[in-house]
Amino acid sequence: MLTAIDEKNKLVNLLESSPEELTGQYFCPACKTEVVLKNGNIKITHFAHKTLQNCESWTENESVQHLTLKKILYRWFKKSEKVEVEKYLPELKQTPDLLVNDKIAIEVQCSSLSLKRLKERTENYQTHGYSVIWLMGKKLWLSHQLTELQKNLMYFSENRGFYFWELDLERKKLRLKSLIHQDLRGNILHLTEEILFGHGELLTHLRQPFSAQAPLSLPVSADRGLFHFVRQQLFHRSTKWLEIQEKYYQQGKNLLTENFDKPYIAPPGLNLLSVSDDKISSANFTQITQNLVPYYQNFLENFKKNPRNKLYPPRFYAIIKEVNNETKAK
Ligand SMILES: [Zn+2]
Repeated sequence: MLTAIDEKNKLVNLLESSPEELTGQYFCPACKTEVVLKNGNIKITHFAHKTLQNCESWTENESVQHLTLKKILYRWFKKSEKVEVEKYLPELKQTPDLLVNDKIAIEVQCSSLSLKRLKERTENYQTHGYSVIWLMGKKLWLSHQLTELQKNLMYFSENRGFYFWELDLERKKLRLKSLIHQDLRGNILHLTEEILFGHGELLTHLRQPFSAQAPLSLPVSADRGLFHFVRQQLFHRSTKWLEIQEKYYQQGKNLLTENFDKPYIAPPGLNLLSVSDDKISSANFTQITQNLVPYYQNFLENFKKNPRNKLYPPRFYAIIKEVNNETKAK
């Protein structure tokens, strides 16, 4: 941790004070037990609990990555915003890594956490009127397939569809992965943009998915080995694929007569094979409060019926739908 309170109950921020000034006794702002100053060669100067037993706010030893990223983001925000590091919020009993402009909690997530805890922490912020932006350290970066935890750390905007933030300490970059889609094997596709640490205003970058912009697109192609893959999944009695096959049978169809020559790619939460057009329910993603049903419907109308070689953001499909409706009305 980078903050503590001194014997006079005054908050000490290590990012704003030099270590020589720090001579007294220090305490945790949350649990009030004693903390000690640590000057390491590897880790930046920080405080650590003498004992973590009674602390609801701090649970783990912080990594070098976590401490350093907090420091970098603090300085970056400070160029243009009001920012507080590890501001303890007593009504929530939570300490966001950074609190920006009194209302935006920034969480630098470098280690795994349980889905239950992620939901609790997110909902706790939301019900108290804070928004929370999760920025992911190396361990949680997107790889080939989405984990349950990653699904629940994704955000959504009309301009960018599903998106996800990553922090790359080694390369000193903030990364935005957007237009996240999945193919039938569960592999993900997305666009990647990188911003060098310290470049421009950080809050402006974080709001980028909501700012006006020309529609982006993501090129896709059909998966040549898909038919073979599906046959194999059925042969090996994969539960997921047997369920899809069962749905096909109920509709008097056979999965293996499906035309696999077109791209089968959809936004997370929408399976192009197992969904029938009139029965789309919004999937549950912890960070997403928007109703995704209109997007899923527009996507199905535009993509499944007329597969394209490009994927577009939700706004694009909404505009196409409007244009189609106007044409029909004429
Ligand atoms: Zn504590």
